Amino acid sequence: MIASQIERLIARLDGAAICDDCIADRLDLSVRSQADTVTRELGGQRGYERRKDDCTLCARTKIVIRHRRK
Ligand SMILES: [Zn+2]
Repeated sequence: MIASQIERLIARLDGAAICDDCIADRLDLSVRSQADTVTRELGGQRGYERRKDDCTLCARTKIVIRHRRK
């Protein structure tokens, strides 16, 4: 499942922000919009935060997602 792979990747980053493009790269997703769809859903849920910020991996400012531990 793509959604659970993405959740695991975000968890492994331990609070660091990652953009949809880097998620797609890391997980070898053929379609970038798959990452977009999942992160859009995760944003705002259970400690997930989605907003415009610097991506830890590519250093570009774009929509990123991170998971904040309580
Ligand atoms: Zn990135």
